Amino acid sequence: MAETASQQPPATTRSGGPSRSVLVTGGNRGIGLAIARRLSEDGHRVAVTHRSSGAPEGLFGVQCDVTDSAAVARAFAEIEEHQGPVEVLVANAGTTDDTLLMRMSEEQFEKVLDANLTGSFRVAKAACRSMLRKRFGRFIFLGSAVATMGTPGQINYASSKAGLIGMARSLTRELGTRSITANVVAPGFIDTDMTAALPDEYREQVTKIIPAGRTGSAEEVAAVVSWLASEDSAYVSGAVIPVDGGLGMGH
Ligand code: NDP
Repeated sequence: MAETASQQPPATTRSGGPSRSVLVTGGNRGIGLAIARRLSEDGHRVAVTHRSSGAPEGLFGVQCDVTDSAAVARAFAEIEEHQGPVEVLVANAGTTDDTLLMRMSEEQFEKVLDANLTGSFRVAKAACRSMLRKRFGRFIFLGSAVATMGTPGQINYASSKAGLIGMARSLTRELGTRSITANVVAPGFIDTDMTAALPDEYREQVTKIIPAGRTGSAEEVAAVVSWLASEDSAYVSGAVIPVDGGLGMGH
């Protein structure tokens, strides 16, 4: 006799937990893509945003610039239709526009804040209603070691990433009783397009002060996000988890 949908066991991940509806913003390349692939391999239903590149093979893509509230609303509607309301949100989309304070225009400051901090606010707001209804949710924000260490030339970027810590901790206090957690993953120097743009001299200098003696990979960040998305992390919230080879230790 053919099994009906209601007779089928619910889909589970490879660790035995339920398969969740996941959104990774900026999941079309770099750290976001590694996270999307890892969560998909774990057994979750994964959607990614892309701005113009199209979605990577095997992942459900929605076109969305996180600086555009209407595009965010459209993306969430498409995802809900395709795989159910977002239960795990990975706010990964991020950008830089580096220069020293003396040369940084207000526009350069605001542009980075708008993508990294307000963009994360936009997607968090879009996700929270269904998480509340479901009484389950995971907010995972991609911060940075520089949020707490500071770095010359990145006042806009470091400020945006520091803001995410306040966002995750406030969310934890607002929504913690509903089995909703909010955490920040703080990568150090990870090999992606973002860091490829930095001069070799800078990379050599940074590598010297990383206790692990090397830069990190996007897959190493994805492994931590995989755990945060799982049932095993249920009692961890408001945390800033470094993935930096020890670079930010003590900050
Ligand atoms: P990349 O520059 O390689 O990729 C950035 C991603 O963000 C792309 O998918 C890009 O989309 C997307 N993005 C940027 N702006 C927007 C926007 N306005 N709307 C939607 N998507 C956007 O960066 P990484 O993979 O290196 O970084 C990923 C995250 O990790 C970022 O938040 C970054 O700040 C953080 N991080 C990275 C570190 C590193 O060493 N690499 C260290 C610490 C933190 P598109 O393809 O359309 O441009």
